[in-house]
Amino acid sequence: MTRRLMSVVWVLPNTCLGLSLVPLVLATGGGVQIVQGTVEIYGGAVDWLLRWLVPLPTGASAMTLGHAILGRNREVLALCRDHEQVHVRQYERWGPLFLPAYFGASLWVWARGRRPYRDNPFEQEAYAQSDPWSRSESSLDRSDDSDTNDRC
Ligand SMILES: [Zn+2]
Repeated sequence: MTRRLMSVVWVLPNTCLGLSLVPLVLATGGGVQIVQGTVEIYGGAVDWLLRWLVPLPTGASAMTLGHAILGRNREVLALCRDHEQVHVRQYERWGPLFLPAYFGASLWVWARGRRPYRDNPFEQEAYAQSDPWSRSESSLDRSDDSDTNDRC
């Protein structure tokens, strides 16, 4: 088995979570595109899910599930793509353990009085390589050090 195929299989449970949304997203006016070896799912019900079901003050702009990346719309995906690709590589390292490790890390830093999202080591690695909000000139740019802005 090639390394790439092993990677796909290793993250498949998480990828399937994202892909399970495709019919609903297409039925609600969203879209799907293949970019840089991932399935990007945007708009429609994903916009609502990221805004209202992600446990952050303003929801999330984008989220990675294995080799599937969810985004509120295509513009946000373009802005967050490099950041989300870091999360894809994290999934490829951690496989099915990624989500428990990610949320465990958030709980760990929160228990120590730090910000559960921005101080999470997985997010720190992703933001160190790509911080879409610091380089954007768009109206999406509301970056500061608080834990209440848009998230990738
Ligand atoms: Zn992130």
